[in-house]
Amino acid sequence: LLDSSGVPAPTIFARMSALATQTGAINLGQGFPDTDGPAVVLEAAVSAIRGGQNQYPPGKGIAPLRRAIAEHQGHWYGLDVNPDTEVLVTAGATEALTASIVALTEPGDEVVVLEPIYDSYSAAIEIAGAVRRTVKLEWPEYRLRAEALAEAVTDRTRLILLNTPHNPTGRVLERTELEAVAAIARERDLIVVADEVYEHLAFTDGDRNQHVPIATLPGMAERTVTISSAGKTFSVTGWKIGWLHARPEIVDAVTAVKQFLTYVNGSPFQPAVAQGLALPDEEIRAIGSDLARRSAMLTEGLAAADFDVRPSDGTYFVIADAAPLGYTDGAALCNDLPGLAGVVAVPVQAFAEDPSQPSSLVRFACCKRTEVIAEAAERLARIR
Ligand code: PMP
Ligand code: GLN
Repeated sequence: LLDSSGVPAPTIFARMSALATQTGAINLGQGFPDTDGPAVVLEAAVSAIRGGQNQYPPGKGIAPLRRAIAEHQGHWYGLDVNPDTEVLVTAGATEALTASIVALTEPGDEVVVLEPIYDSYSAAIEIAGAVRRTVKLEWPEYRLRAEALAEAVTDRTRLILLNTPHNPTGRVLERTELEAVAAIARERDLIVVADEVYEHLAFTDGDRNQHVPIATLPGMAERTVTISSAGKTFSVTGWKIGWLHARPEIVDAVTAVKQFLTYVNGSPFQPAVAQGLALPDEEIRAIGSDLARRSAMLTEGLAAADFDVRPSDGTYFVIADAAPLGYTDGAALCNDLPGLAGVVAVPVQAFAEDPSQPSSLVRFACCKRTEVIAEAAERLARIR
């Protein structure tokens, strides 16, 4: 939670957004859209405020939202979720993650995570007094290898923390990779905490990039905490409405922690998110396919600027290697990028177990208007 000199450090995303504000550069750093989500969802929140839904909601979230979450999981994935006992609404996926890790580990227990690691995972593990064990995904394939996973699991392992579609790599894990995780979880009696916040932002094309919730694999529903959030699907990252579902005993344990983290949050946003989750399939699919076009556009722009780019399978993000441009230190490049090109990005080494190790990989966000992506690409092409 502290930086190398013992000072509480702002997150890499906050730092990079501040750099964009200071310099006036295009912010392709922190992942947030520059347009609002579906009008019906926005209007529903306005009506809820006007209609007086402004006091504490029930601790587990309002019943219509818990029902909408359970129905969504049934409709999209065939999961059977009880809205009364198996769902908890949280202050974003961030709280769902932290409350789950704190509730489900004892100090000294080990949590297996994939590297690159999303920043809040390491912080939550530290808050819980647990120990992080990383499994490295290697550029550019970023595949999860079963042997690497087996090596990371010990007698102290309690949780495997999974994320698919994956931030920052843009990978959608394949069924075979998830089967390897499921096999080890069943064999070693582990709980999987699955961060699926980008579930509807997989760039599905026939069988390619299909998002598979690990809870749908045999024997996994009872040992998985599935986490998602309205922020990404409906482009409302500031609303902080997230949720999790798991078997009742797990939900009770996580609720016991959650109630003293925030107690509850986002009263008028909860009915709006319930409406969003019930939007017609085509409208929800359109959100992902629209983002896929912008991701492809950013990928093309980065390649034209001589970066070596890995096209993403989903998420807000694209990773590019700056080595062909002669940059070996992505962190230094990201600090200089506003001056060089008027663009802000995030160094991938910020997602490493040891962020002081230089890497030439840089993460760019594609969740911006097409004209913004076009302008950023044009500017980046000038640094060659
Ligand atoms: N997990 C991942 C992988 C994310 O990228 C993010 C946020 N961008 C979160 C969790 C946090 O989600 P929320 O804003 O709903 O807390
Ligand atoms: N998840 C967002 C990203 O990866 C950032 C959210 C945050 O700043 N905590 O850019």
